[in-house]
Amino acid sequence: MGSPHEVNSRPPRAHDAPALAEARIDLAAIRANAARLRDAAGSAAVMAVVKADGYGHGMVPCARAALAGGATWIGVARMHEALALRAAGIRSRILAWLLAPGDDWASAVAAGIELSAADPWAVEAATRAALTAGRPGLLHLKIDTGLGRGGASPAHWRALLESASRAEASGHVRVVGIWSHLAHADSPGHPECDRQVGRFRDAVELARKTGMSPEVLHLANSAATLNLPQTHFDLVRTGLALFGLSPVPEVSVPTALGLRPAMTLTARLVSVKRVPAGHGVSYGHRYHTVRETTLGLVPLGYADGVPRHASGTGPLLAVGRRRTVAGTVCMDQFVVDLGDDTAAAGDEIVLFGPGDSGEPGAEDWARAAGTISYEIVTRIGARVPRTYASGSGSKER
Ligand SMILES: *Cc1c(COP(=O)(O)O)cnc(C)c1O
Repeated sequence: MGSPHEVNSRPPRAHDAPALAEARIDLAAIRANAARLRDAAGSAAVMAVVKADGYGHGMVPCARAALAGGATWIGVARMHEALALRAAGIRSRILAWLLAPGDDWASAVAAGIELSAADPWAVEAATRAALTAGRPGLLHLKIDTGLGRGGASPAHWRALLESASRAEASGHVRVVGIWSHLAHADSPGHPECDRQVGRFRDAVELARKTGMSPEVLHLANSAATLNLPQTHFDLVRTGLALFGLSPVPEVSVPTALGLRPAMTLTARLVSVKRVPAGHGVSYGHRYHTVRETTLGLVPLGYADGVPRHASGTGPLLAVGRRRTVAGTVCMDQFVVDLGDDTAAAGDEIVLFGPGDSGEPGAEDWARAAGTISYEIVTRIGARVPRTYASGSGSKER
């Protein structure tokens, strides 16, 4: 390596890939993670949860990779996500659960998308949609077993069952599932998990007494799939683990769970310059160089999902060494202090990835920003292109 003063003398490198930054998605990892979750799920089927653009990884390619790995259902929050999956040719069972009266219920029913209902209005919306679509609406009734978010509270469960029974008797809907969601699945051993299982069983019992025979019962997310077999029932809904991240990072890193992180976020330095000691860096000068050093400019900022809360703390792999964001993360860019390392514009910086080259993980960014890895990957912005590798070394855009 040359001496530090040569830093600016090397011409910028030309690269095949023009992208200043990219999120590389390893579809083989998603396929393998799906297979691993299928093992963990035992006799339960696996739903690949690909809401929010596949947790930022790209919804359709990730859904396909998960189905190739053994998932048999796809889950999303919103109806338009489900419709986009069908339009892309995904033919598996699809469940959407965060629905509003103004959604396109008729198109969803026509497309065979299964829909969550937690209120009588949703049963009525499915009934009307069935009349338009000419086929019954497929419903999963949701009970709030304690999360205190969506779902019918136990006091309203009977009324929901009665409205669904009437709609079923008229042939306009079929109740195919009963489901709920856990509050403490990521705290192994928390007593609330088993209390929720108990309330779930009670809700199912009451449905059966009402004359329903739901085909699929489901309660588990990623953490419960990996740690709480008593929550598996017929189907597990796995999101984060499918993308290779640990839902319980304080307890287990991804490799310990047999998972491989699928996203690698990289950027190319756009400028490199030598500055003297005592130089303030970025807005507010929250960082000062301690001696003469080399600063690299990274073209990713909070508009791209790099958390501003990671100012001064976000970890990186820069020209072979772990570094930290220097000073404030801006909208489009941040600075890294490269010391005396030799670098040039065009050199690649890795923000996070599976760790093969010593780069940080999404979980390290979560810790640096005081959040969870879910938020790190889902917030990678639309300005960052996703590129896909199928694992055979091929790369598609
Ligand atoms: C997002 C979501 C999941 C997936 O959760 P992970 O922790 O990512 O596995 C499962 N069920 C529901 C209702 C969700 O909203």
